[in-house]
Amino acid sequence: MNRYFIAILGGGPAGYTAAEKASKAGKDVVLFEQNAVGGTCLNVGCIPTKSLLYGAKQYYNASHAQKYGVTAENVAFDFAAMQKRKTIVVRKLVAGIKQRLNNEHCTLVSGAARVLSRTDELVTIECNGETYEAENLLICTGSTNFVPPIPGIQDNPAVWDSTDALAAQELPKSIIIVGGGVIGMEFATLYHELGVPVTVIEAMPTILPNLDQEVVAVLLEKYRKAGINILTSTKVTAVTDNGLRVTGADGEEASFEADKILVSVGRRANLQGLEALTDLELYRGGVVVDEFMKTNLDNVYACGDVTGKIMLAHVAARQAEVCIGRLLRQIPLQRIAYNAIPSVVYTNPEIATVGITEQQAAEMNIETEVRRLPMTFSGRFMAENEGETGLCKMVVDSKKQTVLGVHMIGNPCSEFVAAASFAVRNGYTIQEMEQVVFPHPTVSEILHEIL
Ligand code: NAD
Repeated sequence: MNRYFIAILGGGPAGYTAAEKASKAGKDVVLFEQNAVGGTCLNVGCIPTKSLLYGAKQYYNASHAQKYGVTAENVAFDFAAMQKRKTIVVRKLVAGIKQRLNNEHCTLVSGAARVLSRTDELVTIECNGETYEAENLLICTGSTNFVPPIPGIQDNPAVWDSTDALAAQELPKSIIIVGGGVIGMEFATLYHELGVPVTVIEAMPTILPNLDQEVVAVLLEKYRKAGINILTSTKVTAVTDNGLRVTGADGEEASFEADKILVSVGRRANLQGLEALTDLELYRGGVVVDEFMKTNLDNVYACGDVTGKIMLAHVAARQAEVCIGRLLRQIPLQRIAYNAIPSVVYTNPEIATVGITEQQAAEMNIETEVRRLPMTFSGRFMAENEGETGLCKMVVDSKKQTVLGVHMIGNPCSEFVAAASFAVRNGYTIQEMEQVVFPHPTVSEILHEIL
């Protein structure tokens, strides 16, 4: 039996990044994946949604091209063709990951692995009836969709999670989305742009509750005007075969009907296969880790969604880099700049943020000044975003004059939020930001205009 330096459970962005980094450094790695490598992000998350959203945006833009002086007649779409293209994009990227892992030090095992036993020196794992031994274990088992305990929700064929929605070959005739978070609002965008009537039911007083609410208000206004029915402070009390019952903020009850109900109220860490690790410390269902992703067990590490921290693919990948860097004793030891993690919501317009909001700064007792500018201060934005105003907000530490956060809505802010991440990550002052030259004409210039 081979003995590996590290056994990795799960081949998503955390697992494959760790496997690539460790094996390329000459360490023997065994990586277990029960589905396709690439994990949720690549197979049933980020990439397939962005492929479909891009198709929907093309159709939507063609249908609304008149404002740019273009008349397009008989604009139509073929959802099955969009799905086919999505599958091809995913397949190519999965093949690319397999290629990256194709080296003499990396063994990829296809199957569901489980930990059999663990000592401080050795972890034993079973997969497909074979036993594997490793000095270290890295848990990258990701997360699964959370189904809230609402009567009528379980085993209801009308109820979808995001994986069902992505797999469907036909569009629903109408849809209710339970949960106005990131998944909920991205699917609301997809269906709305393809002409499906959409209702969003959000339990909190606002959609996307963790984001800057002034930015969210811009989206909310646009989506409501466009006809998306968004109900906030609304609780689902029961799910039926063709809809659901809710209680609104005022305690009033109501019923809504739809062809499908998409439930997107968050995800939970996936701990399957870890049952033998009875001493593994958990917090709110996620694996507890230190700043180098080590768990409370000496040779056991965890990265990505399974830690229940920030469920983003780019965080998972960075956690894996830091974790393997520490295991390889690379000097200087790297850490994760959790204060500068960018995130994007692929609505139309897009939302992109990094760093703290003014509300979070207030909770942390940091005195801030907040700068605001409509995106229309950018010439390129004006040229390409007819009828939109957008918004850019910058949260600045009043005393140090450093950039603490940037929050934006307006296309294509996802493509330049990384520039704001540099500023937040490196603690740039306004004066230092002023010295950065932004290309003209680009929407990114808003980061200069706002100073
Ligand atoms: P989320 O936490 O972003 O949103 C869940 C929403 O559901 C919240 O607004 C919450 O208030 C609401 N909610 C909870 N219970 C409810 C109930 N019973 N009725 C109505 N509303 C309820 O979770 P998600 O959208 O499911 O996404 C899961 C994870 O995947 C998140 O961590 C998210 O960041 C990540 N993700 C990221 C991206 C991206 O980066 N673009 C895209 C998709 C998913």
